[in-house]
Amino acid sequence: MIPMVDLKGQYHKLKAEIDTALMTALENTQFVMGPNVSAFEQEAAQYLGAKHAVACASGTDALHLALRAAGLQPGDEVITTPFTFIATAEAICYIGAVPVFVDIDPKTFNIDPELIEQAITPKTRAIIPVHLFGQPADMPRITAIAKKHNLMVVEDCAQSFGAAIGKTMTGNFGIAGCHSFFPSKNLGCYGDGGMITTNDDHLANEMKVLRNHGSYERYHHSIIGYNSRLDELQAVILRIKLKHVEEYNRERRRVAHTYSKLLADIVTPPFEDEIGNHVYHQYTLLSSQRDAIMKALSDNKISSAVYYPIPLHKQKVFAVDYADIPMPVSEKVASECMSLPIHPDLGESQIKRIVDVIRSACK
Ligand SMILES: *Cc1c(COP(=O)(O)O)cnc(C)c1O
Repeated sequence: MIPMVDLKGQYHKLKAEIDTALMTALENTQFVMGPNVSAFEQEAAQYLGAKHAVACASGTDALHLALRAAGLQPGDEVITTPFTFIATAEAICYIGAVPVFVDIDPKTFNIDPELIEQAITPKTRAIIPVHLFGQPADMPRITAIAKKHNLMVVEDCAQSFGAAIGKTMTGNFGIAGCHSFFPSKNLGCYGDGGMITTNDDHLANEMKVLRNHGSYERYHHSIIGYNSRLDELQAVILRIKLKHVEEYNRERRRVAHTYSKLLADIVTPPFEDEIGNHVYHQYTLLSSQRDAIMKALSDNKISSAVYYPIPLHKQKVFAVDYADIPMPVSEKVASECMSLPIHPDLGESQIKRIVDVIRSACK
């Protein structure tokens, strides 16, 4: 079986270091907000070039905390993409705000900046671009639109840890960048974890307060917050894996470029531009023969997956509001996209095997 990701192989390469560090943390018994959490925040902020990093319990919480700290109110409208994981829209709904979906660019699968302005109303307060599959969204254009209309930009970086536009890492273009450390993400822990990066001192402080029961000072509460902290043991693992994330992303690019070279004549490979640094959280291609390809892969014990089969505006929770608003690009991409196994340790011979199966399925 060739899996989508190989978490076991990755663990075994780092096992001695991770096991020892976990044992030390177990002996320390500072399980909540311990020294590894603050050390990880500093190291991650430095790596990403952000002034602050605020660790929290998940990527979903990162979005929620950022939106609340930014002062989003019930009834506010937030423009985002329908071609993403549900968590992007969930966080908007947690506030009582309203997600407004804007169709995607057919090449990058990210929100189409061309369509944003026509979706802006007097109620619009923010834009959440998602750097989908590790490909940075068009931040220069999105931030320019936001500035013109006085909107906040909160980036969903759950799939883009380490991706950059030029020298600027994703998460530094808006007021906050929301990261996920779900195990299969480019930087993943061994459970749930998340983090918000920001260059705004006030926002950083508000998010630290919100993640810890709204407590500015111990046992003093002036707002209602949450219990959303990164676990100390997860921070131990993340500190070790952070040292390898550049290499992991480089290896992901190697795999992706090999796939694209070998498949470009029979499928539409993922688009990659010259300034954006795609970190290939997923390798997602388009093919009108998707179902046949997936069946052939499955018959040959090779995993593949569809991210995402149903765009959010077609999901039951949102479909009523969007019954008469088609999102033709999202719908077409959802019907033809599929993702191939990709992880840092995927070898050339495995890639060739996968490619051979796809080529014979397309004959
Ligand atoms: C994974 C993911 C999230 C949510 O992260 P969790 O850590 O699983 O809560 C949010 N947005 C996108 C685009 C994601 O891929």
